Amino acid sequence: MSFARFSIDKRLVGALESFGYKEPSPIQEKVIPGALRGESMLVQAPTGSGKTHSFLIPIIARTDFDLPRPQAVIVAPSRELARQTYEFCRAFARFYPKMRVRLWSSETDVSQNEEGKSLPPQIVVGTPGRLVDLLVQRDDYPLTNVRTLVLDEADMLFEEGYGDDVKSLADRLGAGQALVYSATLKPHLVAELKKDFPGIDFEGTKEVTPGGLSHHLVDIKHVGKARALVDFMKARRPYLCLAFSSKKEDMKPVADLLRNEGIDYVYFSGALSERDRKKAIREIRSGKHALVLTSDLLARGIDLAGVSDVVSLDVPPEIEFYSHRAGRAARFGEKGDSWAFYNSDTVADARRLLAEGIPFDYYVLKGGELVSDPTSLEKKARGPKKKALPEEEVKEIKIAKALTRKKRVEPMHRKKTQFAIEKVKRKYRRKAIKAAIRAEIGRSYAMKAKNKKK
Ligand code: AMP
Repeated sequence: MSFARFSIDKRLVGALESFGYKEPSPIQEKVIPGALRGESMLVQAPTGSGKTHSFLIPIIARTDFDLPRPQAVIVAPSRELARQTYEFCRAFARFYPKMRVRLWSSETDVSQNEEGKSLPPQIVVGTPGRLVDLLVQRDDYPLTNVRTLVLDEADMLFEEGYGDDVKSLADRLGAGQALVYSATLKPHLVAELKKDFPGIDFEGTKEVTPGGLSHHLVDIKHVGKARALVDFMKARRPYLCLAFSSKKEDMKPVADLLRNEGIDYVYFSGALSERDRKKAIREIRSGKHALVLTSDLLARGIDLAGVSDVVSLDVPPEIEFYSHRAGRAARFGEKGDSWAFYNSDTVADARRLLAEGIPFDYYVLKGGELVSDPTSLEKKARGPKKKALPEEEVKEIKIAKALTRKKRVEPMHRKKTQFAIEKVKRKYRRKAIKAAIRAEIGRSYAMKAKNKKK
């Protein structure tokens, strides 16, 4: 797809072609159409994804260059980033002779920034302090035409303590459109931004994430997790695969078979000593190994580049765990695949994941081959053997049922009962997970203490 598909003028397409940009990057494809319509967006995009042009293109397309008034303000957390963005923007000026773009950052003396007062720039790029100085405190520029505010590397802006500057800018500008970029998106960020920046219209803000992640459910038939992983590694030959197991005791037979089959892997778990864990991380980062056999501890916090595949040897009991595992692949807009193994005994877990709305497709591992089979899950008999629930949980479910029981059948009555039961079940699932994590962390602390004593 070329840039011509967006409704932008030929001049802009010509400029992009002259830079050698033949087609939009994935993040540009996602951001540009909405940004051209004036929508606010929260974009997860790191440096190198083409993020700068994902806001420059719509800004230039929407700017009236016959009007010598600020129309877009781009805030960056560092002068280096501000300069780079400014240079990227200035490159368009060859095609837009009336374009006036200014760099207002701590890099230059403020008196140099003031020279444009008589003919104000249409696009301003800068660092927070200087922008506040010139746009808020001196109040020398007409700001009623500012339509777009870009917060580049917003996570850094806030971490570096520029929150108040950004707030006063946002209040003063009152731009209708906010394009907020961040390498990571924390939950509820939109809600927080809405609260902190009443001057910005975050209503209907779209969250744009890399989304290069594909989800697959794999029916491993009767071969067992260990053999399935060996077959998967041979069939798929991943660049870097993290294979997760919920239970430590399940990892041993998998590790044994991998070793017997001569498949190289790194082992990582909370049970390792801190020294061994660090060593394992170094090994993983060295890029020499294609497989890491790990517990859920590696699904959080530790940043690993280049993970192409994630395998869930079992479906974790809570959806958050699955998301954390899968999220290790496809970081930074790269493509990644998450494979969740199941068989006849665990088909209910697979259905549970599916019910969460994750867009899975279906595979079977057949004769050592990974084969796409869209009907594989339907073919599985419903209703696997149910495990007996703990006594306490059964009691609480009975109470929940009794409390929601009505003499007369009311609308939503069944739903209410169902909801109450689900709540109890969720509570017990969480309890089980917490206990498992505590056990794993406990093991790791015990090892640490033991090693310290040595
Ligand atoms: P950024 O993510 O903004 O740091 O951009 C990374 C690099 O990608 C910059 O050097 C841009 O010149 C380049 N770039 C941006 N968009 C495109 C594109 N559509 N095609 C090729 N290169 C691009």
